[in-house]
Amino acid sequence: MEILEQNCDVLIAGTGVAGLCCALNLPRDAKVLMLSKAAADESDSFLAQGGICMLRGAEDYDGYFEDTMRAGHYENNEAAVRQMILSSPAMIAELVADGVQFARDEEGNFRFTREGGHSRPRILFHDDITGKEITRKLLALARTRENIVIREYTELVDIVCRDNECFGGVVRDVKTGELGTVYAKFTLLATGGVGGLYEHSTNYRHLTGDALAIALKNGIEVEHLDYVQIHPTTFYSEKHGRRFLISESVRGEGAVLLDKNGNRFCNELLPRDIVTGEIRAQMKKDGTKYVWLDMRPVGEKTILEHFPTIRRRCLHEGYDVLKQPIPVVPAQHYFMGGVKVDLDANTSMKRLYAAGETACNGVHGKNRLASNSLLESLIWAKRAAVQMTKKLADVSLKMPQTDLSAYADYTGMKKKYAKMIREEAEREECCD
Ligand SMILES: Cc1cc2nc3c(=O)[nH]c(=O)nc-3n(C[C@H](O)[C@H](O)[C@H](O)COP(=O)(O)OP(=O)(O)OC[C@H]3O[C@@H](n4cnc5c(N)ncnc54)[C@H](O)[C@@H]3O)c2cc1C
Repeated sequence: MEILEQNCDVLIAGTGVAGLCCALNLPRDAKVLMLSKAAADESDSFLAQGGICMLRGAEDYDGYFEDTMRAGHYENNEAAVRQMILSSPAMIAELVADGVQFARDEEGNFRFTREGGHSRPRILFHDDITGKEITRKLLALARTRENIVIREYTELVDIVCRDNECFGGVVRDVKTGELGTVYAKFTLLATGGVGGLYEHSTNYRHLTGDALAIALKNGIEVEHLDYVQIHPTTFYSEKHGRRFLISESVRGEGAVLLDKNGNRFCNELLPRDIVTGEIRAQMKKDGTKYVWLDMRPVGEKTILEHFPTIRRRCLHEGYDVLKQPIPVVPAQHYFMGGVKVDLDANTSMKRLYAAGETACNGVHGKNRLASNSLLESLIWAKRAAVQMTKKLADVSLKMPQTDLSAYADYTGMKKKYAKMIREEAEREECCD
C-alpha cells in the first residue's frame, strides 16, 4: 500500500470514468494521485448497462439536442448540451483507440440501440455491460502509467483551502482510520452520486455525495441538490442493499410494463421521470409494491445476445425473462445536481475542478436523458485535464498547515455531511 501522505501535481478523488479520464489526459510527467473510497473497480461506472450516446452525424444534431432538452424539461444549459453532443464522436473515437469495444454489425459498423426519451437509436453498447467495458479498459490503462498512483480504500474527507483557493485534500485510510494531508497543485472532485444516502438505490452504498458536503462546508457553489432521478425499473426485492437495474434499453427494444391484471398502462418510451410517475400511480391504484415488466416482446435472440447479464440475474432471483414478466419498482438512480462547474469543469474555487455525477454543468437540466451521463462525465473530465495541463507549469505547490484532529470523529462528521446535503436539497426544493 502506498503511503498516505504524499504531495502531487494533481489529486483526483474517484476512480470512475470521470477520475480515470482526467488522469489519462494529463501529461505523462505530471504526478497524479487517485483516491477511491472502496476498491478501484467499485464505482457506478462499472455498473452502467445500457450504453453511451453518440451523435450519429450532422443530421442527428437537432434531434439529439431536442431529446436532451425535452428530457431535462428545458432547464438544461444549452451551451453544455451543445458541447456534449458535438464532442461525442471524438470521445468515442478516443475510447475505441483505448481498446473499448462496442457492438458492431457484420460490416463492422457500430450498432445503435434506443432508450426512453430518444427519438432514434443513437446509443452504443457492449452487451448489457457497457460501463464495465469502458471503465475496466481505462482503469487497466491508468495502471500502466508510471505517473499515476491509485490508492484504494482511501477517502477524501475535506479539501485544504485558503482564501477560495484549493491546495489539496485531507484523506483517510478507510481500513485503519489514519488521517493525512495530500498537497496538490490541482484537485478534481469525481466522487460520483448520492445513492448511498437513500434506502433504495441502484448505486454503490459508499457513494454518499462526499464532494457535495465538502463543497457546502467550504462555501463552494453547488446547484440543484434536489434534482434526483428515480429509475422506473429496478428488480423488486424484499432484500436490503443495492437495487438491480433493469436497463431502459430493454424497453427501447420492446419490453412492456403491465399492471396486476397483465394490461399495459403507459408509453414505456417516455422520459424516465414520466414513466416513474405512471408506475407509481399504477401501484397506488392496484395496491401493489411493484408492477410487471414483460421482456418477451424483445424476442429470445435479442435477449440472449444483448441482455445476458440481466437474464442471468433474473434467473438467479427465480424468474426466466424468456418465459415470464418480472416484478419492477422505481428506485433512486442518478443525481442531476452537484458542485457547480462551467464548461471547463472549473468550480467556484480556484485550482478545484469537478466532473462526473458529482458535478453539475447543467447538461441534464431537471432530468437526465438515458445514456448521456457516461459521455458527459468523460467530456468534462477531459476538459478539466486540458485546463490543468495548460496551467501546471505556472503554479506552485502550497502547503498550509492542517489540523487533522478536527477530523477525528469520523461518524459524527459523516452524519453532519449527510445532514448538510439533505438540508440544502430541501432548501432548494422549497425555493425552486
Ligand atoms: C446501475 C446503473 C446503470 C447505469 N447505466 C448507465 C448507462 O447505461 N449509461 C450512462 O451513461 N450512465 C449510466 N449510469 C450512470 C453512470 O454510470 C454514472 O453517472 C457515471 O458512471 C458516473 O461516473 P463518475 O466517475 O462520476 O462516478 P462513479 O463511477 O460512481 O465513481 C465514483 C468514484 O468516487 C469514489 N469516491 C466516492 N467518494 C469518495 C471519497 N470521499 N473519497 C475518495 N473517493 C471517493 C468511489 O470509490 C468511486 O471510485 C448508470 C448508473 C447505475 C448505478
